[in-house]
Amino acid sequence: MVSFLRYNFGKKPINLYFTGICIFIFLCLNFLLYYGTEKPQYKKYKVSNNIMVCYSSDTQLSLIKNIEKNIPNFIKTSSKYFTPTCYERNITIYLKNKNTAKRDKKLLMASGYSIDNKIVILTEKNIIDLHNGNQITYLNPDPLKTFFHEYTHQLINASNVDLLLPIWFKEGLAEYISHNTIQDLNYEYKNSLNFCIITNPANWNLYSYEMLYQSSEFYIHKIISIWGTSAIYQIINNVGEENDFIRVFEHITNCKFEDIINRLNK
Ligand SMILES: [Zn+2]
Repeated sequence: MVSFLRYNFGKKPINLYFTGICIFIFLCLNFLLYYGTEKPQYKKYKVSNNIMVCYSSDTQLSLIKNIEKNIPNFIKTSSKYFTPTCYERNITIYLKNKNTAKRDKKLLMASGYSIDNKIVILTEKNIIDLHNGNQITYLNPDPLKTFFHEYTHQLINASNVDLLLPIWFKEGLAEYISHNTIQDLNYEYKNSLNFCIITNPANWNLYSYEMLYQSSEFYIHKIISIWGTSAIYQIINNVGEENDFIRVFEHITNCKFEDIINRLNK
């Protein structure tokens, strides 16, 4: 073996061993860094048959109890829009503090996010690096609401129509259902943006998430007040067959899209 290495790589095979050892140490350090910090010792708590919460601090327990208490309310609110099979999806929720959340590098301003069957909710203060070099401290104002927002995304994913629904519809519905679940009685529906602005995905890079989410929710609320909750249910359940969000919307409301726009912007 050594003579083979010598033959191929010159007279100093020791260099090759040295490089190999360096790579091995480098990989070990990466392994330790990744598993040492990314996976804190999570405790687990089952809030329902298919929802497991992983948490790392005792202060998060009161949030978990609150989630558990509000799940029947969520099922009641969202079952008007989703078929029962959607609720069979197994979900793991991670309650994270700032240290582990920062490593995810995704939507640092967000209070949480969903990937596959995993929901991440940020529960503690997050220090965010801005493009101008400054830092701001961000604290999730309502982790319970974040949970029901992300849980709505999970139900949309379980309907297998995630890619066929526009972003304003998904985010607006997630906001609408989460506000209704936690029964935020002081909440007022507001539209700071015109319906045509939020329906253009390019505009989602131009305005703040607060304005975009709030306005999207306003239009979901308006659709429900004009055409009823069944319109949302039918959009979610029929869009897969027609493969075209606007055509489904037109069929269900029996209106041309221009008329829909006019009625929503009124
Ligand atoms: Zn969302």
